[in-house]
Amino acid sequence: MLTGCSASLTGDSMRETVLSDPARCTGCGACQSVCPRQAISMKSDEEGFLYPQVNGELCVGCDLCEKRCPSGKMERREVPQMRGGCIKDTEIRLKSSSGGIFTALAVHMLRQGGVVFGTVMSESLTAEIVGIFSEEALSGIRGSKYVQSQSADAIRNAADLVKRGIPVLFSGTPCQVAGLYAALNGNVPGNLLTVDFVCHGTPSPGVFESYIRELERRHSSRAVSFAFRDKHLGWKNFSTMAVFEDGSTETGTQTTDPFLRGFLQNLYLRPSCYECNLRYDTLPADLTIADLWGAEQICPERDDDSGLSLMLIHTPAGRAWLEACTDLDTFPIESAEPFKRVNPSLFGPSTPHKKRAKFFKLYRKHGFSFDDIDHLLAPPGRLERTGEWIVHVPSAVVRRLGLKRA
Ligand SMILES: Cc1cc2nc3c(=O)[nH]c(=O)nc-3n(C[C@H](O)[C@H](O)[C@H](O)COP(=O)(O)OP(=O)(O)OC[C@H]3O[C@@H](n4cnc5c(N)ncnc54)[C@H](O)[C@@H]3O)c2cc1C
Ligand code: SF4
Ligand code: SF4
Repeated sequence: MLTGCSASLTGDSMRETVLSDPARCTGCGACQSVCPRQAISMKSDEEGFLYPQVNGELCVGCDLCEKRCPSGKMERREVPQMRGGCIKDTEIRLKSSSGGIFTALAVHMLRQGGVVFGTVMSESLTAEIVGIFSEEALSGIRGSKYVQSQSADAIRNAADLVKRGIPVLFSGTPCQVAGLYAALNGNVPGNLLTVDFVCHGTPSPGVFESYIRELERRHSSRAVSFAFRDKHLGWKNFSTMAVFEDGSTETGTQTTDPFLRGFLQNLYLRPSCYECNLRYDTLPADLTIADLWGAEQICPERDDDSGLSLMLIHTPAGRAWLEACTDLDTFPIESAEPFKRVNPSLFGPSTPHKKRAKFFKLYRKHGFSFDDIDHLLAPPGRLERTGEWIVHVPSAVVRRLGLKRA
């Protein structure tokens, strides 16, 4: 039986699971990579997220998995330096989610003979972190995939390469980067550069897969690719683009694509994302990249809606790497204040949508449904607004008015 990562040790002190509270597990997979007996595997729960499961027959009870788990162990660092900017190559910039900073950092690593780890969509449209060795392979890991990527194998492989002295750039969510440092037992080797991003939270891979199946049913054709941040309508009005085997396509925007709408309204983010404290001065990487939302006010002279990135520099190694990338056009950003409003994920986690539980009840029953999304995300009607009002009114007043609670 899959029990998520709720803690428990059997009578023989053999472990069945890693953490006592499943909601704290980010699914990074570091525990799997440090287990000396290969006793841990990642299994999907009923919301479609991966959690570690321990094979009690292989476990020797050494507790390394729990000791190394990075969940909740954040470190406050110096206030990061900030820059805005983009890659000079317009074609790459338009293919990137924001200003294409990641590509510039990655090219520099590949030209030094290093390995770059980033997230691809596999042929079956599963998101996974992989290591690449050539500039030709960069297009696969460029661009945001708004679904949680599998990272356990990548963390193990990246840690192995780093220990062998090979230069590595590892890019992932802040919690995946924390997972890599956990696998390295907190060591910060000189041949490793890490890049994370300001993170809104990651949607369920199971929900995304179900959404793709629904698209395929509607098109009677297999989906062969899916882009989350197509810029054909501009950087700010980003859109999705699904391509099917029969040549047909389906596009949507932040307000029309059902999956994107649910993501942006926090309907199916991972439980740990709603508690995540990896923000601003607690982000674990050398460099953090993000969209420079608010560019039209912060630097209107540079904003042509092709995409601009915000960069947070946390370490001297990160600063040196950025300075070595000569194909970037960057400028200083003096204050983080505007981002509190325009990019709140820089400072705090997303709040769960109040209909999250209802969504998953329906999802467990019949998978992803466009109608459910329309229904759950519709603005509240009069009846619902009255219900909400009643919930927030003291019981005595409700009784006096002769009303019933919703
Ligand atoms: C789930 C998610 C939530 C985000 N939330 C915010 C936010 O709230 N505010 C904000 O400003 N920016 C957010 N971003 C970052 C933003 O979308 C851009 O990735 C960032 O601006 C860098 O863009 P770029 O043009 O420099 O590079 P890009 O070429 O777009 O590179 C993006 C990098 O992210 C990696 N990546 C893509 N998808 C994933 C994934 N699922 N898991 C791990 N790594 C991945 C890629 O491998 C690549 O290294 C988020 C990204 C993701 C994936
Ligand atoms: S190491 Fe990562 S996957 Fe393992 S229990 Fe901790 S947070 Fe979860
Ligand atoms: S919000 Fe935090 S826990 Fe969730 S994916 Fe991002 S970094 Fe990880």
